[in-house]
Amino acid sequence: MGACLFCDIVSGAIPAGRLHEDDQCIVISDIAPKAPVHLLILPREHVSSVDALDASRERLAGHLVHVAAQLARSRGLDAPGYRLVFNHGSDAGQTVQHLHLHLLGGRILDGMC
Ligand code: AMP
Ligand code: ZN
Repeated sequence: MGACLFCDIVSGAIPAGRLHEDDQCIVISDIAPKAPVHLLILPREHVSSVDALDASRERLAGHLVHVAAQLARSRGLDAPGYRLVFNHGSDAGQTVQHLHLHLLGGRILDGMC
């Protein structure tokens, strides 16, 4: 096992069902779902958070969002709606220091935004 949980999932060292994968990212179900649909879009590359994104990774960031929107549509969430979340740092509650995009939907999403 390496130092990063999501790198271990990306590499397959820790097994996880993959709902989508391509050359840049994989998609897994969140282990502690906060909504009926709660998926995580993980870049294959280790990036610690959105704070570490730079110009060279703009395409990667856009790809993660695009994949999330496609998945949301494929699950029929485009009509009722859904939420995409990147957490950075302790105030946001980031617990895994490998960039990931949360896709949440399937219920009315109350909360901060
Ligand atoms: P964050 O708080 O933004 O860092 O989100 C990390 C997310 O990873 C949380 O929603 C956790 O429930 C989720 N998580 C932690 N370990 C695993 C795992 N082994 N497989 C899938 N999701 C996980
Ligand atoms: Zn990592």
